[in-house]
Amino acid sequence: MLDTDFFRRWMAATAAAMDREADRLTELDAAIGDADHGSNMRRGFSAVGDVLGKEAPATPGSVLTLAGRHLISTVGGASGPLYGTLLRRTGKALGDAQEVTQEQLAEALGAGVTAVAELGGAKAGDKTMLDALLPAVAVVGASFDRAREAALAGALETVPLQARKGRASYLGERSIGHQDPGAASSALLVGALAETAGASGGGDA
Ligand code: ADP
Ligand code: MG
Repeated sequence: MLDTDFFRRWMAATAAAMDREADRLTELDAAIGDADHGSNMRRGFSAVGDVLGKEAPATPGSVLTLAGRHLISTVGGASGPLYGTLLRRTGKALGDAQEVTQEQLAEALGAGVTAVAELGGAKAGDKTMLDALLPAVAVVGASFDRAREAALAGALETVPLQARKGRASYLGERSIGHQDPGAASSALLVGALAETAGASGGGDA
């Protein structure tokens, strides 16, 4: 079972990964966007880390809804509302439970990813964060490690794609040949989940 502390540690591990990889994310965004994705993710998840250090949400769902709210309020641009929606909707889907199963988290993440697709109007293959999230969510109920691998593979598979949503889509064919920054950061979010599960002693169903 995954308890509230697991979710706090997942968010802390995500904040550490975004901080560590901020320069790489910004370089990716410099190629096909406006070179702010790393600083957006660092600022947003650092704020999430701060608020989770001060407040003590009592359930897994409330950790994620609080995190999502803070991402929306601290990150401008496309990624703040999209990541905020992902975490808020996932948290809402977890309800009031004190502990959740890996399968329940997988279902809730599915609802969160669907909400991201609805908000942004993107689908698989449009060269967005969804290209990392969709394959990860498909396997996360069975294995956190496989979800991490699927997210990484999905992010790398955005390289040959032409962007159809967001700022990168303005480049048309010139967006081809670069990894999507949001897919790269989504792989970090899923990687932090696998890292947290691994530190808790496996956790795979
Ligand atoms: P901005 O594009 O406003 O500068 P960021 O650079 O922080 O915001 O985030 C860019 C990332 O947001 C993209 O790499 C992409 O993954 C994601 N993104 C942008 N628009 C959409 C959308 N409509 N649907 C899903 N993801 C999107
Ligand atoms: Mg940007």
